Amino acid sequence: MSSTKRTTPKRKCISCGKSMTQQFIGLKHCKCGMSWKKDIGYFERTPDMVFALERRVVKKSKNSIKTKQFPVIRNNGE
Ligand SMILES: [Zn+2]
Repeated sequence: MSSTKRTTPKRKCISCGKSMTQQFIGLKHCKCGMSWKKDIGYFERTPDMVFALERRVVKKSKNSIKTKQFPVIRNNGE
C-alpha cells in the first residue's frame, strides 16, 4: 500500500541529526542546544537567550487590526 499523505517534513538538527521540537511557530529547538529560526536559520542557543512570542500588527484596516505572533529572541539581562 502506498499512501500519499502529505506530512510536513520534520526539521532535522544539523548538529546531531535528530528531529527538532517546535517551540513556537517558526522556531525549533534541539536537545543538543541547536536552534532554528525561520529567518535566521540554524544557530546555537546560549543560556542568555530567551525565546518569546511577540505580537505584531500585520494588517490595519478601518475597524480592525490584525495581529500575528512572531518568535523573537531576547537576551537575558537586557
Ligand atoms: Zn541536535
